[in-house]
Amino acid sequence: MNVEEFRRIGHELIDWIADYREQTSRGVFPVMARVLPGAVKRDLPAAPPDAPEPFGAILDDLRSVILPACTHWQDPRFFGYFPSNSSLAAVLGDYVSTGLAQLGLNWQASPALTELEELATDWLRQMVGLSGAWSGVIQDTASTATLVALICARERATSYGAARGGLQEADRPLVIYASSQSHSSVEKAALLAGFGRTNLRIVAVDERYAMRAQALLEAVEADRARGLEPCAIIATTGSTATTALDPLADIAQVAQAHGLWLHVDAAMAGSAMILPECRPMWNGVEQADSVVLNPHKWLGASFDCSVYFVRDAQHLVRVMSSNPSYLRTATDSQVKNLRDWGIPLGRRFRALKLWFLIREQGVRPPLLYRPCVCGTSRRA
Ligand code: PLP
Repeated sequence: MNVEEFRRIGHELIDWIADYREQTSRGVFPVMARVLPGAVKRDLPAAPPDAPEPFGAILDDLRSVILPACTHWQDPRFFGYFPSNSSLAAVLGDYVSTGLAQLGLNWQASPALTELEELATDWLRQMVGLSGAWSGVIQDTASTATLVALICARERATSYGAARGGLQEADRPLVIYASSQSHSSVEKAALLAGFGRTNLRIVAVDERYAMRAQALLEAVEADRARGLEPCAIIATTGSTATTALDPLADIAQVAQAHGLWLHVDAAMAGSAMILPECRPMWNGVEQADSVVLNPHKWLGASFDCSVYFVRDAQHLVRVMSSNPSYLRTATDSQVKNLRDWGIPLGRRFRALKLWFLIREQGVRPPLLYRPCVCGTSRRA
């Protein structure tokens, strides 16, 4: 495809997406795909084409095979799983990201990618009312962020044991604490980070499905008495099944008294903290070590865009850094190399969609309803 063909087909595709979004907003399609398993594979050739195909043929299949097999997450009647609103400004951000085709292996590989990610995550930090002690980075998903948090917790508890024999050499098993309402990604992260299922404690919840801080304290003390090593707590702000809010301030006291890492999974409800009146819901968050929130859940950033905040960025970098000769540059001492802020080396220009979204929306858009002091609403 040459640039002129790209221009022509690209315009056509933008129109196609615009029509799709307009139709979806009117509920033109059935929300759930009405296809049987195997339908897409049945209707497409099993082997790749030998000869180049005209783009029109690809678009025909897009309309006739792919679209009917899509579940329409942007339809106003979609109430499955969680809302994942993808604003059109964010869609354009992703478009530009793919068009610019940046690959942020280090700052030098794309200074714009690196610095815009610093800026956009810092905007988000300010928007949700986190103090300047936090630094943010974009991960693909909250699952990855929680895995990173547990690896960092493990390394802090073992004084960087991975550089020696890792958990295979640990004298005492490390223990993780979460409530029965925590997301399945917490258990997955605990297993992948090597803690083992038997060292994941499920702490009791109260009648509002929030973790009981007293039960947490008792579990930590019991584990210590048995010669185990309590390592990390994962608290949730807005649990998936029940939107429960764990009492962060009380949990943080336990974490601090026993030197545990506190990771806050605010993937679901974190974006609500843009509203100052919601912030009491995560009172105590400043005492945590790490927080994840997902702008790709109902804030409007298209999937994937999960923002991971840490208080001790140096620790994160020490745990995650790799420094082969082919990635070293003369600017390394002056810049952030975001490959050291997570697991993958390569990094997409995800910040663009967050930046487009925030700029296009503004933090304080004109509201139809403004909260009044008594807690009810009135028309602005
Ligand atoms: N944590 C909570 C509270 C969630 O609701 C979800 C997703 O539903 C996740 C974590 C996992 O999110 P992701 O798909 O970004 O890994």
